[in-house]
Amino acid sequence: MGHDSHAARSPLDTRELLDLDRRHVWHPYGPMPGRAAPLVVESASGVRLRLAEEFCGRRELVDGMSSWWSAVHGYNHPVLNEAARAQLESMSHVMFGGLTHEPAVRLAKRLVDITPAGLEHVFLADSGSVSVEVAVKMCLQYWRSQGRGAKRRLMTWRGGYHGDTWQPMSVCDPEGGMHELWSGVLPRQVFADAPPPGFGAAPDEAYVRHLRETVGRHADELAAVIVEPVVQGAGGMRFHSPAYVRALREACDEHDVLLVLDEIATGFGRTGALFAADHAGVTPDVMCLGKALTGGYLTLAAALCTPRVAAGISQGEVPVLAHGPTFMGNPLAAAVADASVGLLLEGDWAAEVRRVEEGLRTGLAGAEELPGVTGVRVLGAIGVLQLGHEADMAAATRAAARHGVWLRPFRDMVYAMPPYVTGDEDLAAVCAAMRAAAAEG
Ligand SMILES: *Cc1c(COP(=O)(O)O)cnc(C)c1O
Repeated sequence: MGHDSHAARSPLDTRELLDLDRRHVWHPYGPMPGRAAPLVVESASGVRLRLAEEFCGRRELVDGMSSWWSAVHGYNHPVLNEAARAQLESMSHVMFGGLTHEPAVRLAKRLVDITPAGLEHVFLADSGSVSVEVAVKMCLQYWRSQGRGAKRRLMTWRGGYHGDTWQPMSVCDPEGGMHELWSGVLPRQVFADAPPPGFGAAPDEAYVRHLRETVGRHADELAAVIVEPVVQGAGGMRFHSPAYVRALREACDEHDVLLVLDEIATGFGRTGALFAADHAGVTPDVMCLGKALTGGYLTLAAALCTPRVAAGISQGEVPVLAHGPTFMGNPLAAAVADASVGLLLEGDWAAEVRRVEEGLRTGLAGAEELPGVTGVRVLGAIGVLQLGHEADMAAATRAAARHGVWLRPFRDMVYAMPPYVTGDEDLAAVCAAMRAAAAEG
């Protein structure tokens, strides 16, 4: 089809589109050619996705996923549209080497203002995984600049997820696919046990000792500890006590190890605090942001660090951070991100997330009685039904769609993290769909 440039201009009928998609387009974690037909989305507005054709009797689905944690304000938002349009009129992109611009500078200042005190320097990257790569590079280079190049391993706890490029993969949960597939290829990192579950649970003293001991034992080879604070997302949607994040901060300080908090999923209000680190009252040495940063409009991420890390690198043997993506600081993405964070701060995000949390708690109450469901957990705008078995993704997706909701269960759970603007009725539909997906998937 590549030879016929006009073919792309006339609209594709849905059959043709799906056929081309199957033959030519990779989807996340998919085979080639694709086996399961995806749904074709025509447009999206508010909390609704409009499909090109009916699926399970529905043309529109309430989005229970916020497009993987990102679309916190919903789709086609007039303020974000206007920010994008206005920026497009002046420039979509210019290189960041030797040039700068207002959208990137405004956004960086805003991020410094709202993240935990002490984070002052912002590296803008194109995706969450790349921001984790940059965070790791910062930490390794910091120690090398101090003449301590042996400190180049990472420690994390089990059950985490930090992205799909190499350094992030090496600190994802070692159980399951990627580590087994890539053993001998991935850098070997230090793993502590998974944090005991429960956001409100009393901290387990034995586990705190285990964390401290693991940091202490490996201190000479550790550049950094990297974890998702409070909520482990794609590794299993588990919540834990902020006390463990504090324990890591203390252990890292005691043993001269840097602390990286990956807030790519948890940032911008999702857990009920603006950043999950705020639950713990902790400032990391490096913090990664992504996903909801642009309100789900464009790909953008950031790695923020403290003056200590920045100075350590910049006064070292190679006194620069050798990283510079082509689309670094993309003005279009930065302008939308600035508008999205502005929208969050100007509205009452905390009350909205609390309302969503209440809706999820009410709608999922008693769901642990359903056959196949072993637990229910809700924190902020995140709701999870834990299953006692692997979810049948296709069956669960259809069951949710019959209730007019888009859900994408994975592993052994059905979960939702709806946009903060989801109305109460739509929230009730999301919960009903989760129950149905758990029962049928
Ligand atoms: C999604 C995610 C990433 C990776 O971000 P991408 O933009 O998909 O590369 C990293 N860490 C966490 C905690 C995430 O949820």
